Amino acid sequence: MVLAQLGGSISRALQQMSNATIIDEKVLNECLNEITRALLQSDVQFKLVRDMQTNIKKIVNLDDLAAGHNKRKIIQQAVFNELCKMLDPGKPSFTPKKGKASVIMFVGLQGSGKTTTCTKYAYYHQKKGWKPALVCADTFRAGAFDQLKQNATKAKIPFYGSYMESDPVKIAVEGVERFKKENCDLIIVDTSGRHKQEAALFEEMRQVSEATKPDLVIFVMDSSIGQAAFDQAQAFKQSVSVGAVIVTKMDGHAKGGGALSAVAATKSPVIFIGTGEHMDEFEVFDVKPFVSRLLGMGDWSGFMDKIHEVVPMDQQPELLQKLSEGNFTLRIMYEQFQNILKMGPIGQVFSMLPGFSAELMPKGREKESQAKIKRSMTMMDSMTNEELDSSNLKLMNESRMMRIARGAGRPVREVMEMLEEYKRLAKIWSKMKGLKIPKKGEMSALSRNMNA
Ligand code: GDP
Repeated sequence: MVLAQLGGSISRALQQMSNATIIDEKVLNECLNEITRALLQSDVQFKLVRDMQTNIKKIVNLDDLAAGHNKRKIIQQAVFNELCKMLDPGKPSFTPKKGKASVIMFVGLQGSGKTTTCTKYAYYHQKKGWKPALVCADTFRAGAFDQLKQNATKAKIPFYGSYMESDPVKIAVEGVERFKKENCDLIIVDTSGRHKQEAALFEEMRQVSEATKPDLVIFVMDSSIGQAAFDQAQAFKQSVSVGAVIVTKMDGHAKGGGALSAVAATKSPVIFIGTGEHMDEFEVFDVKPFVSRLLGMGDWSGFMDKIHEVVPMDQQPELLQKLSEGNFTLRIMYEQFQNILKMGPIGQVFSMLPGFSAELMPKGREKESQAKIKRSMTMMDSMTNEELDSSNLKLMNESRMMRIARGAGRPVREVMEMLEEYKRLAKIWSKMKGLKIPKKGEMSALSRNMNA
C-alpha cells in the first residue's frame, strides 16, 4: 500500500533530522518541508498540511527549549501527535450494542466498494456473535440486489430486497421492520450509489435516511479518489448525517491520504479499512497504532494482542519476561520466527512489529519473506547452544560463520545478513527494557509508552 511510502518518507525526514549534530531552525524547517511534501504527494488536503506545519512549529519552539531537552524526541512526538489529530475527529462514532436493534445505513459513490463493505461489516460482527441482516435499498444499479444476495448467502447472513420494487424507501422500510421483528441487532441498509455526485443521489439518500432513522450513517470511500476526497466526503455529510467513515481498497496503489481529508470533511472517525476483495480483508481502524505503523514505530498493542492470541499460554509469561529484560538472543529470534510462521498473514504480523514497516513487508511478497525466515531458522539450527543464548555476537567469528553457512547449505553472505537482522531487532527489542510486563487489557498503556 502506498501509504507505507508516506510513512517511509516521514520516517526518513525524521531520521535525517536526528542525524544532524545540532537541531536548529534550519534543520527543523527542512524536516517539516520534507514531511509537508510527502503528505501533499499522498493527496492530503493542502489546508490540513499547512495547519499541521503551523501547529508543530508552535509546539516546538526551539528558542524556548533548554539545551537539556531532547529536541529530536519532542519533534518526533509532535509529528506523531499531529498525524493522530488529523485522523481523530475528537469524538467517537455511535457504537451499536449487541442484542439491541441498530440500523446502520451505508452511503457512497458507485464503485467505492459499498456493497462489499456492507457484507464485510456484517460478517465481522457475525463472527463476534451478533445477529446482522442486510437490506438492499439500491434499486438504481441493475444487479445490485443479486450481488448483495450472493455475498449474504455466502456468509449465511439474512437479506432483504426485491427485483420488482423500484422505490428504495419502501424496500428499506420493509427490510428494517422485518429484521427488527426477527430480533436482528445489526440491520445494515445498502443504498444506491451513482457514478457522480448528483442531486438525485442525495435526495434518495435523504429520503431513505428519513424513513429508516438510522443510528449510524457510514460513508464508504475508495482510497484512490485522491484530492477529491475532501469535497466528496463533505457533499455526503451535507445531505445525511454521516457519523463514521470506512476507507476501502487500502491494499491497492492508492495514495491513501484522502482518508485524512475525509475525516476532516465529515468530522467523523474512520472505523474500518478494507484491505482486499475478500470478506475477511477488513480491519478495525485505530488511530494511534495506525500512525505508529505508518511511521515504522510498530504497533505494540496489536503485536502484544497477537502474542496473547498465538503464543501458547504457558510460554507467554516467559516471553514477556524476556521482553522486559531487553536481552535479545538468537534463540529468542528463532522462537519468534517460529511464532510468526504460526501467526498467519505474515505481512500483517510483520507490519505490527516495531522496526518493520509495511514497506519492508509488502503485500504479495509474503511467500518470499516466509522462505527467508525459514532459511534463517535453518542457519540458526547449525549454531551451538552457547551461540544461541548469548546476547552479543562475540562468538561469531569468520570461521564460525563459514561453518554455519556450510551446515545450512547457504552462502556466508546470508549468515551475515541474518546476523545484521538480529542486531537490528536486538536494538529495537532493547527499548522494551524495564517496562512493566503488561497483562491482557493493559496493552494500550504499553503502546503509549513505546510511542512516547
Ligand atoms: P459499490 O458499487 O460501491 O457497491 O462497490 P462494490 O462493492 O460493488 O465494489 C466495487 C469493486 O471494488 C468490486 O470489484 C469489489 O470487489 C472491489 N472492492 C471493494 N472493497 C475492496 C477492497 O478493500 N480492496 C480491493 N482490492 N477491492 C475492493
